[in-house]
Amino acid sequence: MTIEMKFDSQGQALGLRLTEGFSPTLKEDPAEAEVVSHRLLIRAGFIRKLSAGIYSLLPLGLRSTRKVELIVRREMNRTGALEVLLPAVQPGELWKESGRWEHYGQELLRFRDRHDRDCVIGPTHEEVVTDIARREIRSWRDLPLNLYQIQTKFRDEIRPRFGLMRGREFIMKDAYSFDADEAGADRSYQAMHEAYRRIFRGCGLRFAVVEADSGAIGGSYSHEFMVLAETGENGLVFCECGYAANQEKAELKTYATLAPEEPAGPLTEVHTPGCRHVGELAAFLKIPLGRIIKALLFETGAGPVMALIPGDREINPVKLKNAFGGVEPRLLTPEEAESITGVPMGFVGPVKAGGLKVAADLGIGRLKNGVVGAGRTDFHYLHAELDRDFTADLSLDLALAGEGDPCPRCGGRLAAKRGIEVGHIFKLGVKYSSALKAAYARPDGEEGLLVMGCYGVGIGRTLAAAVEQNHDRDGIAWPLPLAPYEAAILPLQVQNAAVAAAAEKLFQELIDLGVETVLDDRDERPGLKFKDADLIGYPFRLTVSEKNLSAGEAELRFRATGEVVRMPLSQAAAALRRLRDEGLAFN
Ligand code: ATP
Ligand code: MG
Repeated sequence: MTIEMKFDSQGQALGLRLTEGFSPTLKEDPAEAEVVSHRLLIRAGFIRKLSAGIYSLLPLGLRSTRKVELIVRREMNRTGALEVLLPAVQPGELWKESGRWEHYGQELLRFRDRHDRDCVIGPTHEEVVTDIARREIRSWRDLPLNLYQIQTKFRDEIRPRFGLMRGREFIMKDAYSFDADEAGADRSYQAMHEAYRRIFRGCGLRFAVVEADSGAIGGSYSHEFMVLAETGENGLVFCECGYAANQEKAELKTYATLAPEEPAGPLTEVHTPGCRHVGELAAFLKIPLGRIIKALLFETGAGPVMALIPGDREINPVKLKNAFGGVEPRLLTPEEAESITGVPMGFVGPVKAGGLKVAADLGIGRLKNGVVGAGRTDFHYLHAELDRDFTADLSLDLALAGEGDPCPRCGGRLAAKRGIEVGHIFKLGVKYSSALKAAYARPDGEEGLLVMGCYGVGIGRTLAAAVEQNHDRDGIAWPLPLAPYEAAILPLQVQNAAVAAAAEKLFQELIDLGVETVLDDRDERPGLKFKDADLIGYPFRLTVSEKNLSAGEAELRFRATGEVVRMPLSQAAAALRRLRDEGLAFN
C-alpha cells in the first residue's frame, strides 16, 4: 500500500516505516557505558560513539534532539530573545582580551591556522557576543537585547563520560542579555528563569531550580535547573521553607559539633601506631569520628593550604576554591604532602603546621577536646583546641552540607537529593563588558557599561537526563514531548494480508491526524518487535494481530505505565490522537 506522507512545519516526516528506517538496536549493553542513559541511547540506536566524548546522532537521536531544540527555541522566542548563530571557530585574540586565554585551562581547545594565528573552538560564546555588542549597540535605545543560539560547543573535558551527558562536543543553547543597568539585568534574568521553567516543564521532566555557586562574583545570582534523578552527578539540598541549593553552594555555618566529653584537659601526645586514617584512629582511641580534626593538604590558588574539618565531615572544594583565588584546589597526593611536611599524611596537624597556611572550618572553633596529628609519625595530640593549642590563618565555612544539616535560611532540616544540571542561568554584571569595553550612551549622554547575563541549556544533556529519569529494565520510556515518534504500530503477522492492510490503514490515519508514527512492517517475530518498541520507548504502542483483528480490535499499550486498553480498530487512531493531545497539554 502506498502511503501519503505528511510533514510538520519543521519539515519532519510524520511517519516512518521501519523497513526504510535506520535505527540499529543492540541486544547487549555496550561495555563502555557506565550510566543508564548512555547505555540505552546506544542500544536503542539513537547515538554512536566516534571517539572519546564525541558522538554521532542517528535519525532517532536527531529527531529527539530537534524536539528539545524546538521547545527551547519556542520559549526563548516567547521572551523576545533573538536567535543568532555565532561562529564555532574564534580568534584567540578575543580570548586574550577577556583574560580567559590564560584562565580557561585545558578545556579550551586551541590551535593555529595556516597564518599562525591563535584560534579556539568555542566552549562558550561570551567573548564573541560581547564583541558584537560593543560594535553594534550604540545607545540605551538599543537595550535591552537578548541574543541566543543553539550551537555545537567543544570543551576538552579531561574525563568525558556518560555519553551525551558529559561530552567534549555537545549542543548547547546559550543566550546573552544586555541591559542598561542592574534593574534591567534583573528583569532579563527573571524572564530567563521563567522561560527555563517552561522549557523543562515542556519537556515533560521533573526538575528543581537551585541556587548555584557563582564563584568569585558572589551573590545569589546564579541558578541551576536540575533534572531530579538518583544517578545525577550533583548533590542538592532542599528545605521545606523553599530553600534549594546545589550542595556546592549551600552554606553550613552552624551545624552542631560534639560537646566536650570531659573538662578541657591539657594538650597530650599519645602513641597511635599506624593510625593514618580517621577511621583507624577513631577505632584505636575509641572515640567518635567527629572528635578528630582531619587535616588535608591542598594546592590552591594561594599555594599549599592545610584545611581542617571535623572527622565526620567532608570538605566542599568549591568553598575552598572561592576562598583561595578562584582556582580549582587539588588535593595533594600522600607523597606530595609528605614531601612538604616531612610527616606521613594522617599524622600531620595544625599544632606543628610548619609554616603552612591553615584554613579551619567553622566547626573546628566549636570543637573542644579535639584530636589532631602531632606532626610526627605515629603520634597524635588529645585535647586540642583552636586558638589555645593551634591557630588558623582563616576560619571559614568549608563543610559540605547534606541530609539533616541545618537550613541556612530557616534553621530547619535539609533533605538531600541528586540531580543532573541541564540549565544554568547566571548574572554576569560587567565582567565581560568591562574587559572588552562594551559601552553604550545613556540618556544623559554619559557612557555606561552593558550589564550582562548568560544562560545555558545543555540540549544533549537534557535528552540524556530525560532517559535517566524515565526508563525501566526494558528500555526508555520517553516523556511524550521528547519521543522521536509518539506511536508505534506493531503488525504481528505481516505475511497475513488482512493484518498488514489494517496496520497500513492505521498508519495513514495517524499520519493524517498529525500523530508521529512508526510502522514496524518488518517481517520479524512479535517478541523482537515488542522488545525493540520497549527499548526505543515510543509512548504509545498499537498492536494489530490476527487475534485482535478477528474481534475488530486494536490493543493500545502505554509505555510509561504498561497499562493496556483494547478499542475498536476503527476508532483507534482518533482515540490515540486524543490521548496524545491530552498528554501534550498536560505539560
Ligand atoms: P558542568 O558543571 O556540568 O561541567 P558547566 O557548569 O561547566 O557544566 P555551563 O557552562 O553552565 O556548564 O553550560 C551550560 C549547560 O551546558 C550546562 O547546564 C549543561 O547542561 C551543558 N553542558 C555543559 N558541559 C557539558 C558537557 N560536557 N556535555 C554536555 N552538556 C554540557
Ligand atoms: Mg553550570
